[in-house]
Amino acid sequence: MLKRLICLAALLVTATPAMAQDAPHQRQARQIFERLISFRSAAGHGQIAPMIAYVQQTLRAGGVAEADMAMIPHEGSGALVVRVAGRDAGARPILFSAHMDVVDARPEDWQRDPFTLVEENGFFFGRGTGDNKAGVAAMISTILRLREAGQRPRRTLVFAFIGDEETGMATTRLVAAHDWVRNAEFAINTDAGGGLIGDDGRPGAYGIQGAEKAYASFTVTVTNPGGHSSRPRPDNAIYQLAEVLLRVRAIRFPVRTNPITLVSLRAQAMTLPPAQRQMLLRFVDNPADQEALASLMRDPSFGPEVSTTCVATLLEAGHAENALPQRARATVNCRIFPGDTLDEVRARLMEAVADPAILVETTGNPTVSPVSEPREDVTAAITRSIHRRHPGVAITPYLEAGATDGLVYRAAGIPTYASSGIFMRPSDMFFHGLNERIPVAAFYGAIDHIHDLAEELGGVR
Ligand SMILES: [Zn+2]
Repeated sequence: MLKRLICLAALLVTATPAMAQDAPHQRQARQIFERLISFRSAAGHGQIAPMIAYVQQTLRAGGVAEADMAMIPHEGSGALVVRVAGRDAGARPILFSAHMDVVDARPEDWQRDPFTLVEENGFFFGRGTGDNKAGVAAMISTILRLREAGQRPRRTLVFAFIGDEETGMATTRLVAAHDWVRNAEFAINTDAGGGLIGDDGRPGAYGIQGAEKAYASFTVTVTNPGGHSSRPRPDNAIYQLAEVLLRVRAIRFPVRTNPITLVSLRAQAMTLPPAQRQMLLRFVDNPADQEALASLMRDPSFGPEVSTTCVATLLEAGHAENALPQRARATVNCRIFPGDTLDEVRARLMEAVADPAILVETTGNPTVSPVSEPREDVTAAITRSIHRRHPGVAITPYLEAGATDGLVYRAAGIPTYASSGIFMRPSDMFFHGLNERIPVAAFYGAIDHIHDLAEELGGVR
């Protein structure tokens, strides 16, 4: 998911985006993009395997050896890893990652066919144009360009094409454990990180995603023998659950900061009115400043930036209007700050529930991931590449509310930096929604951005 960076919207600078050119690699990337969009690669449509076959065939035609491509099958779907071998056998590889799957789109709801690439009014329309098939196209294009130029990087580059980011990330886990990937020194994820275009059409700040909050849901279930509603009992599943939820509402998790959030908060401070700015800067300089913290916590947008949060999101109770409820259940959705654990969050919920007869269950299999501390080489390479097309924009790390494949890589010990190279207006972002699009210039920018990073970080000559 390429997330919005609204908080950075005010950091606009005065530069204009470079116009797309019609270079041969751009024509090739567009053709690849067109094919990628044509696969309805949503869960349940069986299109990941044909899409992998297409990627393999395209790379083969570009001279990539069979031995440098490994298909990782998984329950009728799968992932593909492609290796560009480095000259220095002792250097650890660098991983690049993009996901091939999309959230489904119903053609009858769209203004244009979601599975046909349409170029209109300076945009590419189609499901996956932004999330994340521009990244898939950028990786294929990069491999082909390196091949065509006869370039060999110093370090091995491994490109991972993931099959189920939007659903289970099972193929991401398989990729993270793969022989070519396990030892990667770090990863560049094309699926998040990006820049803003202001309403005046000018590029604004660019964010590198270096951490993600983990996503975890819990159900809280109260049961009761029930009975006829004409004879209320003293205990009642709905009232009990309501009382529990009020206690859940009062939970405050410990305040946390890390190098990423402090840099990102400092950047946000500059966009605030003077009094708030001063308080936020006091907090950034000294997170133990309780007065600054208390003042900031009065702003509801601030808490999630510095702590785990949990909130009730679904309710389901009772079975008839004239019966006492036999069951009442709430879903509580938590966003776990890097450093907090799933067990700690669950323990806080249990404490708030304070009744062993009430069932608290974790939904699914949440992955909690650490922060990827900013690396000078990665930040420098991203900055140089972005400034080539958008001179002078501010480059800031940020923590994402989650979740992308980066969660899995970070949890597997591979620090991950998401940088798509895409610049767009917040009002044009419809990822997962209707009429998804990206600006044509942003697509070509993303293609060159991933190529720049492969060349510079890989030590291509
Ligand atoms: Zn995505």
